[in-house]
Amino acid sequence: MGKHTGFVEYRRKGIPYRDPVRRTNDFREIFTDPEEHILNLQSARCMDCGVPFCQSETGCPVDNLIPEWNDLVYRGRWREALERLHKTNNFPEFTGRTCPAPCEGACVLGIIDLPVTIKNIENAIIDRGFAEGWIKPTRVHRRTGRKVAVVGSGPAGLAAAEQLNKAGHEVTVYERDDRIGGLLMYGIPNMKLDKGVVDRRVDLLRKSGIRFVTGADVGKSVDAAQLMDEHHALLLATGATIPRDISIPGRDLDGIHFAMDFLTATTRSLLNSNLEDENFISARHKRVVVIGGGDTGTDCIGTSLRHGCKSLVNLELLPQPPKNRAPDNPWPEWPNVFRTDYGHGEATERFGSDPRRYSVLTKEFIGDRSGNVSAIRTVKVDWRRRDGKWEMSEIPDTEQLIKADLVLLAMGFLGPETYIAEALDVELDSRSNYRAEYGRFQTGVPGVFSAGDCRRGQSLVVWAIHEGRESARAIDAYLQEEIAGEARQA
Ligand SMILES: Cc1cc2nc3c(=O)[nH]c(=O)nc-3n(C[C@H](O)[C@H](O)[C@H](O)COP(=O)(O)OP(=O)(O)OC[C@H]3O[C@@H](n4cnc5c(N)ncnc54)[C@H](O)[C@@H]3O)c2cc1C
Ligand code: SF4
Repeated sequence: MGKHTGFVEYRRKGIPYRDPVRRTNDFREIFTDPEEHILNLQSARCMDCGVPFCQSETGCPVDNLIPEWNDLVYRGRWREALERLHKTNNFPEFTGRTCPAPCEGACVLGIIDLPVTIKNIENAIIDRGFAEGWIKPTRVHRRTGRKVAVVGSGPAGLAAAEQLNKAGHEVTVYERDDRIGGLLMYGIPNMKLDKGVVDRRVDLLRKSGIRFVTGADVGKSVDAAQLMDEHHALLLATGATIPRDISIPGRDLDGIHFAMDFLTATTRSLLNSNLEDENFISARHKRVVVIGGGDTGTDCIGTSLRHGCKSLVNLELLPQPPKNRAPDNPWPEWPNVFRTDYGHGEATERFGSDPRRYSVLTKEFIGDRSGNVSAIRTVKVDWRRRDGKWEMSEIPDTEQLIKADLVLLAMGFLGPETYIAEALDVELDSRSNYRAEYGRFQTGVPGVFSAGDCRRGQSLVVWAIHEGRESARAIDAYLQEEIAGEARQA
């Protein structure tokens, strides 16, 4: 523990984002550069608790050794802090930027004061590591002769690929898109995670010996059975890509899009031509309504603002969360409280009020004569708990018309697409995910494993990294058993 009295002496001070109005004029990252002395004091707030809940089950999903690297940062031993961080997390530069930080929700200091700024410190350690040139490709000294195909290049696929490569297996990552990274590349927008940061890590993985094949749609353009024949094991890390739709009158009008179509096209155009090819759904001068919240909704808000939208409304079906933890949501659980994310803050600055409207049900899309959406009919709803279950009812006389030229649907995802599962005879579970037990990660088909959002359902980057690492462990055990079996027979 760096300083015994740090948590008493210093108040929490997070690293601020860039000015909310100015930053909406570009797609550069929202973060500012941290000052070392601030990080030093913030790391001194860590109490080095006997039981560090921040790195336990309710805290960090990859079990980051948080008190250890807080102490090392306090002492200015950054390189050792980086080594400790990389022991548990393959990609701290992704989590340091995008993670909602369940570790901070579980921080013991959070019981009586504001928690330690763990996420800021994690990000500073990895950014320093890259800036100092400390991060190098891995050298693999011994190869096993075993080949593994990883399908999908999101955080789950990339973490698994790195772990399997380190174990000496020959790994090829197949990605149907034109760039590597999954939702890190096409999903999370550039202002939250610069695509150069993703490419930098992929480049390191490539130099460490992992092969990447883009434009390879396994189950369509690449034969899944042949891929099985050519490899000793196969990992499905294809994400949860089926968006939840809304089946109400007017859904087929022009101007209503899934959030991912909007976000992906913007990032692709940004990377291909700095938006000059205009090959994206534009929110410029439009009255935008985003239906649904979460990260996807926030990213639609932030992106619409950067396009130059005329107005912005965000509709949420659920009620507004409480300001503080509810009695049934105690520490160290993830606090379900009202938060203002970067996009909400930007919209408030631009238009003078928070864009979010809670407990609103969308009833109908209304169109103009040309078949374009022009308004949304909504009604307020009431949520009540009955026999332990939440029930929703419409409140009479609360109908409203909201004008809209562009509607973005950000209502979550229903699971993975199934064509690759059908091609490989992989079963689905009751939630339409690929069935593979947590811990074993093996589907019902020998040698076929599954990890990340396609197995656990829509989740977080840090959980995808965790599943990638754990599935790699399971695949390695499977391959080692195979190798040992062959040696016994020889
Ligand atoms: C808009 C948005 C914003 C988000 N923001 C955050 C955030 O701020 N913080 C956070 O923690 N989480 C966030 N998430 C969630 C997070 O991105 C995901 O949980 C995580 O990326 C899941 O990783 P994955 O590797 O399982 O799948 P994905 O990242 O979805 O990657 C799957 C990849 O598989 C590829 N693929 C699919 N089928 C095939 C096939 N048949 N052949 C070849 N390739 C295939 C896909 O093209 C894709 O590249 C966000 C999600 C969205 C949609
Ligand atoms: S990965 Fe997320 S939960 Fe883990 S230490 Fe970093 S911010 Fe916290």
